[in-house]
Amino acid sequence: MLRSINQTRTVWLTVSRHQLVATMAKYATVTDWTGMEPLEQDDPDVLAIIKKEKIRQRHGLELIASENFASRASLECMSTCLNNKYSEGYPGQRYYGGTEHVDEMELLCQRRALEAFSLDPAKWGVNVQPYSGSPANFAVYTALLSPHERVMGLDLPDGGHLTHGYMTDQKRISATSIYFESMPYKLDPATGLIDYNRLEENAKLFRPKMIIAGASAYSRLIEWDRFRQIADQCGAYLMVDMAHISGLVAAGIIPGPFEAADVVTTTTHKTLRGPRAGLIFYRRGVKGTNKAGKPIMYDFEKKINFAVFPSLQGGPHNHVIAGVAVALRQAAMPMFKQYQQQIVKNCQAMVEALKQKGHVIVSDGTDNHLCILDLRAKGIDGAIAEHILELVNISVNKNTCPGDKNAITPGGIRLGSPALTSRNMNEDDFKQVAMFIDEGVQLGIEVKAKAGGGSLKQVKQVIETDQETQAKLADIKKRVEQFANNFSIPGYPDV
Ligand SMILES: *Cc1c(COP(=O)(O)O)cnc(C)c1O
Repeated sequence: MLRSINQTRTVWLTVSRHQLVATMAKYATVTDWTGMEPLEQDDPDVLAIIKKEKIRQRHGLELIASENFASRASLECMSTCLNNKYSEGYPGQRYYGGTEHVDEMELLCQRRALEAFSLDPAKWGVNVQPYSGSPANFAVYTALLSPHERVMGLDLPDGGHLTHGYMTDQKRISATSIYFESMPYKLDPATGLIDYNRLEENAKLFRPKMIIAGASAYSRLIEWDRFRQIADQCGAYLMVDMAHISGLVAAGIIPGPFEAADVVTTTTHKTLRGPRAGLIFYRRGVKGTNKAGKPIMYDFEKKINFAVFPSLQGGPHNHVIAGVAVALRQAAMPMFKQYQQQIVKNCQAMVEALKQKGHVIVSDGTDNHLCILDLRAKGIDGAIAEHILELVNISVNKNTCPGDKNAITPGGIRLGSPALTSRNMNEDDFKQVAMFIDEGVQLGIEVKAKAGGGSLKQVKQVIETDQETQAKLADIKKRVEQFANNFSIPGYPDV
């Protein structure tokens, strides 16, 4: 037995050495390879794809509300040696050696996160290790809930996020609904606002352990105090997921959730304009006093840190943490406040221009960086509008409107201003952007009529065959490109 294994190994070694020699002969330079070759030389195929994406971003109008352009300084951090370092654990208590510098980096990032949101380190702590927003949310649930405990979050079709517990009649979709019991709350279809009264009624019956406030497609201010009151009535934790609006909150131009919430999560790459990552803020210190007058302390810190590592994640992405630290410093500067104010002004200017063209906006306006254009009265759905706009280099995403029954052909599109504001566009530019959107929607209506009032599939067939439609698309696209080209993109100038 032993001999046969040895024989097998000998054969394998021989073949493998033989193959290696063959490979080296084919690529004569393999022995000269140092790992210091620029991408252009090392892998032109990959560089070519990246360049195409850069051109797409540059020649188009990015209105996807969750997207933004990170600064060059943030991007630089992510292509450094910090990528190479393992550091499971937390500063001062790692499972690896050689962590003194990444310890310093993580502590700097934590300090800047608290500063960016004006939080007192005696009252709030932060975990900067979550790989993104979804893992941050799941870490909070893992920390504070037992399996199958109950949560309530805004339903996905009403503007909530998947991770807030999305499920359908057929299937539990989000892991939040698989491992915990989730019950949604909804918008009032008449106003497009969160139906707080019904949430309150249902929370009293369902008695969730946690209420999740926050949204991915909600254009109005959220009443944090109202959420706190409802959570207190049923003894629930209040987690606020401010992923979309954290830039606005850091700048202090909309009310923040920190007075009301027990835990606050966010992404770092949306309005906050950093690299892709997640943050978890948790209350710490004294919670109150018991009957004997002794202090009761918050117990979130240990639980949340333990949930992130070792329960859910392994080594932190130190290169990303560095990029987040850079973005958080930017977020504490006066120019960031101006930038966030411009985001809101631009979004409102776009809304006004669309309304003047006879369009309907969910809740009739916006207080933040996004709006939902309700196309139902125009007779086309969000999927067709999204497709037509994509063909003229405008990126948006289809979105349900309050009361929509069908999530596959939702009634509207979501429009956000952060990315184009990072390209230095102002209110006048956004009025022009609104005109392009209107042109696209009008063309969509025409094409749908030609398609016999049909589905997206039929619309695509018309676009493939009808020359008049193709000419109109080409004309809008050309003008969109010319317009977009006037505005540079933050980041590296070349790729
Ligand atoms: C974007 C978003 C997330 C998830 O972020 P990812 O980084 O995509 O995982 C979570 N919550 C809300 C409200 C979001 O909008």
